[in-house]
Amino acid sequence: MRKKIVAGNWKMHKNSEQTEDLLNDLIAKIPTDSETQIIVAPTFVNLASAVDHLEFINIDVAAQNMHQAESGAFTGEISADMLKSIGVNTVILGHSERRAIFNETDALIASKVDTALTHEMTVIFCFGEELKDRQEKQHFNVVENQLKDGLYHINEAAWKNIVLAYEPVWAIGTGETASPEQAQEMHEFIRENIRKNFGATIADEVSILYGGSVKPENANEIFSKPDVDGGLIGGAALKADDFIAIVNAI
Ligand code: 13P
Repeated sequence: MRKKIVAGNWKMHKNSEQTEDLLNDLIAKIPTDSETQIIVAPTFVNLASAVDHLEFINIDVAAQNMHQAESGAFTGEISADMLKSIGVNTVILGHSERRAIFNETDALIASKVDTALTHEMTVIFCFGEELKDRQEKQHFNVVENQLKDGLYHINEAAWKNIVLAYEPVWAIGTGETASPEQAQEMHEFIRENIRKNFGATIADEVSILYGGSVKPENANEIFSKPDVDGGLIGGAALKADDFIAIVNAI
């Protein structure tokens, strides 16, 4: 049985005090009997306090990015070892905002994946087509290429540390969600593609999350699709009530 996961990507939101407030609110409201893995990804500067806050709580902490090098003259960057040293074992890589705004290529993302795996971190690997790709009916090709160029170089054993997050760019922060049918169609395609390249066991076990304007009102229908194993949540992860409602929608 593959894992159900709901992860909140806080992006560049919440200062130190606001981070503590949101964490406290989540702690107060989190369902204790849930089998869903819950992850939050605050900003770098608030990761250490988040790890402390959540020490005895069933919520994991992820970073939103990291550098591919072990260390060195990379002003402003954060390494895998630094994350691990404060107890962060999960990292989001390949987010569309990193790709579009910070010019991250598939090749760069691939090298970040390698570094994270070397440090035995879990990678939430993000990918997804842009609106024009879908309009031109290229969305399956684009997604397949992102997977091939950013991820498929890993070995079979490494898949236990991979979570996939399909996030169609046109649905991120736009209020426009992929329909549950569009999400299922793409997730099924992804799983089939993994099956072709890595075999049935890996394909059946990897969790594939959907991201893009997931809200309490639409989460249940999206999560009810057989190949959707949870969500990567942006805006709605910034309010405890909304995030918990989405966790409870699985
Ligand atoms: P929204 O939920 O705000 O659309 O963001 C999705 C996302 O980018 C999560 O990584």
